[in-house]
Amino acid sequence: MSLTSDLLEKVKVTNPAEVEFHQAVEEVLETLEPTVERHPEFVKAGIYERIVEPDRAILFRVPWVDDRGTVHVNKGYRVEYNMAIGPYKGGLRFHPSVNLGIIKFLGFEQVFKNALTTLPMGGGKGGSDFNPKGKSDGEVMRFCQAFMRELFRHIGPNTDVPAGDIGVGGREIGYLFGYYKKIRNEHTGVLTGKGLEYGGSLIRPEATGYGSVYFAAEMLNTKGESLEGKKALVSGSGNVSQFTIEKLLDLGAKPITCSDSGGYIYDEAGIDREKLAFIMELKNVKRGRIKEYADKYSSAVYTQVDSSLGYNKLWDHKADAAFPSATQNEINEKDAQNLVNNGVKLISEGANMPTTPEGIKVVMDNKILYGLGKAANAGGVAVSGLEMSQNSMRYSWTREEVDAKLQRIMKDIHSAAFETSKAYGDEGNYPLGANIAGFTKVAKAMLAAGVV
Ligand code: NDP
Repeated sequence: MSLTSDLLEKVKVTNPAEVEFHQAVEEVLETLEPTVERHPEFVKAGIYERIVEPDRAILFRVPWVDDRGTVHVNKGYRVEYNMAIGPYKGGLRFHPSVNLGIIKFLGFEQVFKNALTTLPMGGGKGGSDFNPKGKSDGEVMRFCQAFMRELFRHIGPNTDVPAGDIGVGGREIGYLFGYYKKIRNEHTGVLTGKGLEYGGSLIRPEATGYGSVYFAAEMLNTKGESLEGKKALVSGSGNVSQFTIEKLLDLGAKPITCSDSGGYIYDEAGIDREKLAFIMELKNVKRGRIKEYADKYSSAVYTQVDSSLGYNKLWDHKADAAFPSATQNEINEKDAQNLVNNGVKLISEGANMPTTPEGIKVVMDNKILYGLGKAANAGGVAVSGLEMSQNSMRYSWTREEVDAKLQRIMKDIHSAAFETSKAYGDEGNYPLGANIAGFTKVAKAMLAAGVV
């Protein structure tokens, strides 16, 4: 047994039933084993034991009233994971699957991701099991107000700065921020992903998807290749997916799929800019289903989700690259094998932890360029960090300025992961490189702060 495997056992026993959290911790600890020997000072200071434990987890009741006057109660969460390098930072997820284990997995990942961005941000995550689907704007607003009625006392521009995630986009951030201002009488950068009219940053909505494509381009660059002409499988049709598709088009690639929780479309002719505009209108304004894409465009075929299959047909098409941009564990072992069999040479994860451990093994064994979420999707939180900077300065950078900074950051994240993988004797192993680079930064800050 080793320090990291003993610790993983302890995490499993002391956090029972939190399977996604166990998975996230296992993925990180496995890659940290070589640091144990190189950094006895981390071992002596109990850094490994401390880093898996959140600073605090806040659980609260969110009571709200629907349009018919019925009272509902949802669960609210904010896990403030680690503040070693900056204020807690990370999104809010509103989805019926949300539970403490999922928020802890996301918060834990966020600690390392934020460290990689080169910006001073700690890690946190929050959310609720509230399902915004099918709710009126009024119901979403009242829910957001009820959520903020409790959350406001735990957050602040120098303490904890939430943002969006699944089910939390511009509309929800508007309601959350509106209510925070009302009860605190304070216009401050306490949330990111705000509208441009009230303190948001240009390129924030685009940042996660753009960043994931920039990261893919960096990985290809190490092989002397580019995205030009490459066929890309994309999942999801929300924020991350939409801007992944947009940047793929900018760089000359051909996106051919996207999905929602009902099913996916495969468009052999490619999703072009006009079709992307249709998806954006469908998802962001009409809040419709991706099936309607195939009703409109005859070049596309819609396939409904069939969970009895044990794999996702979306990943079973000839392509060069894959951009999972929907949710956790959407690529299992069989999906990963299908990607390999179909010629996919690169995966860049827009979503958080979209590949299962068995799937990652297949990917690594087949020497696929594998940009794990912590590195590849860090562009979103990086531009959130830039939004915080602009709020503090009371100044706004132009679109070009923010995009240039985002590109710089994605390049830096790539080189930190790549160079660290080299330094640890496994060049091109991005999970190893990214986890160790992110961990080392946080661990050094924790060491400097003493035992707190
Ligand atoms: P959105 O809510 O905008 O979109 C999510 C998309 O994924 C929708 O198409 C949704 O379909 C689909 N989806 C969600 N849950 C499931 C599920 N269980 N099974 C199948 N499909 C599902 O969220 P985002 O685009 O913001 O987030 C997508 C992923 O990217 C998440 O993993 C998130 O944590 C990650 N991420 C997001 C960042 C951001 O800046 N927004 C930053 C970094 C990571 P449906 O509408 O049917 O539910």
